[in-house]
Amino acid sequence: MSRVTSGDSSPQSLVINEAAQALREGGLVAFPTETVYGLGADASNPSAVQKVFTIKGRPSNHPLIVHVAAPEQLGHGQIDWVPVLAPWARDIPEDALKLVNAFWPGPLTLVFKKGKDVLNEITGGQDTVAVRSPAHPIAQALLHQFQGGVVAPSANRFGKVSPTSAADVRTEFEGNSDLVIIDGGDCEVGIESTIVDVSSGDRAVLLRPGVITPKEMLASISFGVITPGRS
Ligand code: AMP
Ligand code: MG
Repeated sequence: MSRVTSGDSSPQSLVINEAAQALREGGLVAFPTETVYGLGADASNPSAVQKVFTIKGRPSNHPLIVHVAAPEQLGHGQIDWVPVLAPWARDIPEDALKLVNAFWPGPLTLVFKKGKDVLNEITGGQDTVAVRSPAHPIAQALLHQFQGGVVAPSANRFGKVSPTSAADVRTEFEGNSDLVIIDGGDCEVGIESTIVDVSSGDRAVLLRPGVITPKEMLASISFGVITPGRS
């Protein structure tokens, strides 16, 4: 049986503390985001990242998305995301920051040129890294408490349907006694984040369609969002 911690039966801060500690110790934590449940691991710990690939049966050249906490001053005027992105991304285009300001925290993943300390294990050996800040309050609480980046692909085995409840995750990974699962109820969206590659600096390429549409994004930026087929 997996260790299941419920936000309903114990104070939520204790649940989050336990989960953040598990991440620090190189363990895996399944947690809700606004899209699907993610299978989280410390993005700066190679052996923790390796566990994600192993438990999911995911090919090791499939890059992972790094999840980051929103700055504390959220909701009080202009937010400075640059320090949040600094450990992960370099050469961040101005228009990419506009997308960040418009849609983060939220279901938008951006692909940047990667920072020098980003593990090859999470980028599939590429010179780029994918980053997002999820909008779900439990995801944010965990990221704040952990104080680091968390890779979090969907909490399902490779090729299976993405889970939208803690029960889905439990069923998927039955028998993995070390997995901490934070039960935050059902996910609102149920489909993965939109992914846009802004690493070239002068254009945005839609890598995966999602809840946030190119039309919505074009309202915020001057470079065009284009699909790979038209690039
Ligand atoms: P998920 O399976 O939801 O965790 O999303 C992972 C997907 O994000 C990958 O399959 C890629 O499509 C995309 N992705 C992650 N990292 C990168 C990267 N460095 N460059 C391009 N795409 C990436
Ligand atoms: Mg998936």
